[in-house]
Amino acid sequence: MNEDTAVDRKMDSVIALVHENHPDDDLDLILRAYEYAKKAHEGQKRRSEEPYIIHPVSVAYILAQYHMDAETVTAALLHDVVEDTPSTKEEIAELFGQDVANMVDGVTKIGRLEYQSKEENQAENFRKMVLATSQDIRIVIIKLVDRLHNMRTLNYMKPEKQIEKSRESMDIYAPIANRLGIQSIKAELEDLSLKYLEPDAYYDLVKKVKLKKKGREEFVKRITTIIEKELASQGIEAKVYGRSKHFYSIYRKMTSQGRDFDDIYDLFAIRIITDSVSDCYSALGIVHTLWNPIPGRFKDYIATPKANGYQSIHTTVIGPNGDPFEIQIRDKEMHEIAEYGVAAHWRYKEGKTEGRGKEKRFEDKIAWLRQMLEWKDDFANAGEFMDTMKTDLLNEEVYVFTPNGEIVELPAGSCPIDFAYRIHSDIGNNCVGAKVNGKIVPLNHVLKTGDIVSIRTSKASHGPSRDWLSFVKSAHSKNKIRQYFKRAEKEENIVKGRALLEAEVRKDEAAEGAITEKYLVETAEKLSYKNLRDLLAAIGYGGIKVSVVIQKLRLMYPKLFPDEEQVLTLSKPKAQKNSDSSVFVAGQGDIDVHFAKCCNPVPGDPIVGYITVGKGISVHRADCPNITAVADHDRLIEVEWNRHKTADSFLAQVNIQTSETKGGLITVSKIFYDLGVPITSMNTRTSEGFDYYHVKCEVKSVRELTMLMKNLQKLSSVVSVYRS
Ligand code: MN
Repeated sequence: MNEDTAVDRKMDSVIALVHENHPDDDLDLILRAYEYAKKAHEGQKRRSEEPYIIHPVSVAYILAQYHMDAETVTAALLHDVVEDTPSTKEEIAELFGQDVANMVDGVTKIGRLEYQSKEENQAENFRKMVLATSQDIRIVIIKLVDRLHNMRTLNYMKPEKQIEKSRESMDIYAPIANRLGIQSIKAELEDLSLKYLEPDAYYDLVKKVKLKKKGREEFVKRITTIIEKELASQGIEAKVYGRSKHFYSIYRKMTSQGRDFDDIYDLFAIRIITDSVSDCYSALGIVHTLWNPIPGRFKDYIATPKANGYQSIHTTVIGPNGDPFEIQIRDKEMHEIAEYGVAAHWRYKEGKTEGRGKEKRFEDKIAWLRQMLEWKDDFANAGEFMDTMKTDLLNEEVYVFTPNGEIVELPAGSCPIDFAYRIHSDIGNNCVGAKVNGKIVPLNHVLKTGDIVSIRTSKASHGPSRDWLSFVKSAHSKNKIRQYFKRAEKEENIVKGRALLEAEVRKDEAAEGAITEKYLVETAEKLSYKNLRDLLAAIGYGGIKVSVVIQKLRLMYPKLFPDEEQVLTLSKPKAQKNSDSSVFVAGQGDIDVHFAKCCNPVPGDPIVGYITVGKGISVHRADCPNITAVADHDRLIEVEWNRHKTADSFLAQVNIQTSETKGGLITVSKIFYDLGVPITSMNTRTSEGFDYYHVKCEVKSVRELTMLMKNLQKLSSVVSVYRS
């Protein structure tokens, strides 16, 4: 049949391409996979009425064009057999090896993930999940190409399917291609998606771009000839050509910047591909002597590569007839990375790995990924991409489903109990059993990405068990379980607390009879407990020291303590040193107290003390990230503001972001002066249309600070005001 010969011929090209790029690879593996897949899909047809085998062969062909190796191409030929035919993973492993079987399995698993939600964070989770499902980066690359081929042939699908697949490609697969630096796939997926999502806008663009085509081609020809001649005269070898921007990037420029098609001058870019990095800079010099650059449009991604590894010099110049155009300059290797991203890796590494085992090759790939991860430290803009790569490809997290299809992110090693507590603490506390993918599992079963987890709860449950603490993974579940026990043992703690308090009171004969429940209730409130039971429980489990409660009682009701004089003299030397300070430390007297510079607490802020090594106690705001991150809770100590010491002023830092305004500095400063808040230092900077002020000032209390911030917020130019 005609179609058969066409497919066979495509396979010949696949073999030729793999052989060219990987001379040592096993071509027989590919041929066997082809025969196997042809048989397995026999009789199946695509919507286009073509034999199904055309799809896997096309995917294999595109991958071969991306220089992928024989194993990847083999897995591509087999990628739909486990899902659509009676073949099993085991059979694939036996016939084609474990690596190929794992890749086929990975692609199958991603195919089963269903993307439903329209919420942005669900899209991000879904992207993470796709990456996490792929132990081997080649799986993601096969999946991207599978999707690309399906998008190219989407016109045979029903309209609803077209929209659904396009949405998914735009939300999930194009961003993944971008993260992996595979620009050519990203651009094509975006253009194909736009065609179905916004057909009017798409076809309008196609028409407009076409109209300008002839003039543009002439212009490009003229420019490239000039550049080529000039480069040659300087002895620089380079390839020079014009490249149209893809439709979606033009579309996005028009929509996000509200520009008309005619106002977009960079519909194309001139590319100069040189042999070396130094030639890139020489070429740049030549270009800038030919035409004037537009200030602010020069970007050197060679010195500072983009997060996904992209390197190039971009500059926009004013052309011969006054029209600006963009020029991109890079060397051959940078160019391959720009087009192929992660996939480019196979081209470079393969040739150098002769004689080494597969394991070594795999290690190389991981090493390369790790190296990419380390770039994070060097480049500020690398943040998001690298974080994702790190958590996903090194598998520090798992992504599992609720029975309703929502995605839940958990630390790697989590069990159904972690899942239950993540959903709700009641579900965790009443959890009596769990099912994973429909099968009953023990509660300490380790969850894997893609698992569907359901929890059985029972009202008759006796609450969490202490040994859960030995296998739950997330800090969240551990806290919840501990909290439960703290509450469950409350009665016990109350009894213990009352005994401790009474013993202390009994030491003071005069006070013993005088202190009634009423005073204790009031003291509890003053110490910010909801009621006396809570205070007693806190004494019971060690949350507050009895001496602190007694001290409070004394402060509030000096008359109850007739021998106060004596008591005071006893504790005075300590108290005096402390009263000098603005902060009391629970149960402690003579101790060095200072304020943490990270969060600058101000009277009225909830505060916590941290026992430093040899430097006394540093007082932080209770919500200071440095405190919430403290693992060793024994080093935290209760502290409270000394209400009788109000004269001090305290350093606070206020950060203000405003839109760029003339005279902004004066307006901002005036707010401080009007409230009589002295400024001790101020830093300002301007960036991307915003002014940032970092102001250190002296306030007396959190009330004063709040008032100040409120007044700042009232300024019309102010975008945000926050403390640090
Ligand atoms: Mn497929």
